[in-house]
Amino acid sequence: MKKNRLEIYRRTLVNKLKDLYSAIEGKRVDGIRDFEEAEPDIYDLCVQSYSKEQRYSLCERDREVLSMVEEALDKIKTNVYGLCEECGEPIEEKRLEALPWVKLCINCQSKKEEGIAA
Ligand SMILES: [Zn+2]
Repeated sequence: MKKNRLEIYRRTLVNKLKDLYSAIEGKRVDGIRDFEEAEPDIYDLCVQSYSKEQRYSLCERDREVLSMVEEALDKIKTNVYGLCEECGEPIEEKRLEALPWVKLCINCQSKKEEGIAA
């Protein structure tokens, strides 16, 4: 994946992460702004600055998205971002643009949903 493309996804993910954390605190938290500096470890520091209790106070859906966003950011760090967790193929860019934290390509996702429905 092209670097500038990856940077766009990273920014979207970081913004989403900020939103989710603001939802916990009800306000923007100092320090999270520093994300813009692109320091790789600032992300970890921010995550650690929240207690488990605060994180659990998020609603179920937000928690789910939060963990997917965190995983996606981890993947960017480890250079495996954008690959399907099932088949290992690149996830469609349109899909990543809409939901940059998705873990599966459209094929695997629909197979999974069929599996649940069956
Ligand atoms: Zn797949």
